[in-house]
Amino acid sequence: MTQHFINGRQTAGRTGETMAVLAPATGEEFTRIACGNAADIDDAVKAARAAYEGAWGKLTAAERGRLIARLGLAVLDHFDELALLEARDTGKPMAQAKADIEACARYFEFYGGAADKVHGHIVPFLNGYSVNVVHEPYGVTGHILPWNYPAQMFGRSLVPALAMGNAVVLKPAEEACQTALRLAVLASEVGFPDGAINVVTGRGHEAGAALSAHPGIGFMSFTGSPEVGKMVQIACAENYVACTLELGGKSPQIVFDDADVDAAVPIVCKAIVQNTGQTCSAGSRVLVQQGIYDEFMEAVAGQFAKLRAGTPEMDLDCGPVINAKQRGRVQSFVDQAREAGIPVIAEGQIAQGVPNGGFFVTPTLFGPVPRGNRLEQEEVFGPVLAAFPFSDEEDAIRTANSTAYGLVASVWTKDGGRQQRVSKRVRAGQVFINGYGAGGGIELPFGGTGKSGHGREKGFIALEEFAVTKTIVHKHG
Ligand code: NAP
Ligand code: MG
Repeated sequence: MTQHFINGRQTAGRTGETMAVLAPATGEEFTRIACGNAADIDDAVKAARAAYEGAWGKLTAAERGRLIARLGLAVLDHFDELALLEARDTGKPMAQAKADIEACARYFEFYGGAADKVHGHIVPFLNGYSVNVVHEPYGVTGHILPWNYPAQMFGRSLVPALAMGNAVVLKPAEEACQTALRLAVLASEVGFPDGAINVVTGRGHEAGAALSAHPGIGFMSFTGSPEVGKMVQIACAENYVACTLELGGKSPQIVFDDADVDAAVPIVCKAIVQNTGQTCSAGSRVLVQQGIYDEFMEAVAGQFAKLRAGTPEMDLDCGPVINAKQRGRVQSFVDQAREAGIPVIAEGQIAQGVPNGGFFVTPTLFGPVPRGNRLEQEEVFGPVLAAFPFSDEEDAIRTANSTAYGLVASVWTKDGGRQQRVSKRVRAGQVFINGYGAGGGIELPFGGTGKSGHGREKGFIALEEFAVTKTIVHKHG
């Protein structure tokens, strides 16, 4: 049973109402969480405001950076505990949970070091003037996050906001919020002032909606579905508040006939299978040039057939998906594709001995998938890979850019000119040449276009997202 974390204290909230959270690997109750409402959100925003105007806001950038770095060390000190908690809460394999906690710690290291390196600049202007351009925090920032990488998302969304000097209010996903709550407690233990970090758990349409509509929020950072992202943006617009939206994708992995097939095959598989396909940047479409399509897909099929889904402790290629609804969603894509006669090239397996109540799905590889099919256009958010043959460079780019999304892409070719041409024309916020994914990639600006959302996270650029630029013009003669 866990509580909200508001103003440096654990609290049951205004109503004391709780809700069950299930362990995805068993389908059984894992814990209960507090069910926050608008009054709890209001308490959290007020606490954050007080921290911003008080102890937190008075710290120098170097002092903030040191606290953030200390929290990163605390993450490493509690590594095994956090990894196990994350694995049980989300169902992910232990190896993935460990990689996530490692990446989480990297956010604190990176932004702890960056906090005192956000320098403004001086603009040469008219004679008799001095002009300073400075970056200031918004004050209180709001953060609404999903369940797929809870600890990493905490690092990605909250830590740059804190480094810039904002106080934060987080509404994590109801399905998986345990590591976020633990991180907030650890923050308090390493010396973060009360109210600098607040976490209100509960339902999206209650606590989440109240946070996105709260007039005390200066900026909103949202990660989740396009449908909810749009609602959050509309709520923010009522208060003239800007937001970043990170809404997932249908990212293409483009393989030309001169690609290094041996290097590409395992990476093409990992890009969709990682975290059981529940990754915004999952490489969920593989586009293969006709001349090598059969050979390449046969090699991918060989790997797919070996995939196994199991519990966190079994530590296999995949875990369960997060809940029964997601399992139903993934299954509906698979069933519809089969009914439409789209060939199944290969299937993995659900491991022997997994609990009956777990939310397991079978990793499935389809192809060739007809253009315009759901599997081309919609995010599955599960271990389902769709293959498409293409004829030439133009066809590859047209196919890659044929969805409403634009988050990540990869291009596999040895031709240097083609590497550059395709990278420039493909619609994506990140493009990988002869690779995919970045093992966390804290340093690398990340974000989408179109239905994938807008705004950039990670890297130094994220600090600017959480800051207001002010130009101070001094006429002194
Ligand atoms: P979601 O509903 O968009 O949830 C994301 C966050 O928004 C959660 O904290 C959620 O709260 C909250 N929320 C829900 N309704 C809200 C509202 N009206 N106002 C403010 N906040 C609200 O995503 P989901 O249901 O977890 O997953 C659905 C689909 O979204 C997936 O199948 C996948 O396609 C996509 N998705 C994308 C990402 C990504 O990384 N881009 C991550 C997860 C999911 P609660 O869920 O706690 O109620
Ligand atoms: Mg939801």
